[in-house]
Amino acid sequence: MSFRSHMDTALEEARAAAARGEVPVGAVIVAPTGQVVARAGNRTRELHDPTAHAEMLAIRAACAALGQERLTDHALYVTLEPCPMCAAAISNARIGRLYYGASDPKSGGVAQGPRVFAHPQCHHAPEVYDGLSAPECEALLTGFFAARR
Ligand SMILES: [Zn+2]
Repeated sequence: MSFRSHMDTALEEARAAAARGEVPVGAVIVAPTGQVVARAGNRTRELHDPTAHAEMLAIRAACAALGQERLTDHALYVTLEPCPMCAAAISNARIGRLYYGASDPKSGGVAQGPRVFAHPQCHHAPEVYDGLSAPECEALLTGFFAARR
């Protein structure tokens, strides 16, 4: 059940990102104890930073809060399949489990495209669970892009 509530927190972050005019993606990092250590939504526009994806911001915040460069045995919940950049960061951070909602045929790097975790150069691959709250995650993205057309 913590399962579901962490994705709900990621969805809250995604909705907050949409309200800021950002692509609605949200991410949450959970410690092995079950405690949320960081949560973030996309801020690429606000920060003028193409790397300010929800996952990157959450990883940076979690590492800063913990004073360490690795998030061993931590879980990352994100509303959209991570892109190749974020997948590489997830691997470098040694995150133990990745849960994501919507799949991303256009920019995803986990189940499609470069499939970063399956690459021979990938030194650490998390356990991956996809499709969590996928309808809600997808509806948020579809609604956002429809409204901007
Ligand atoms: Zn990304």
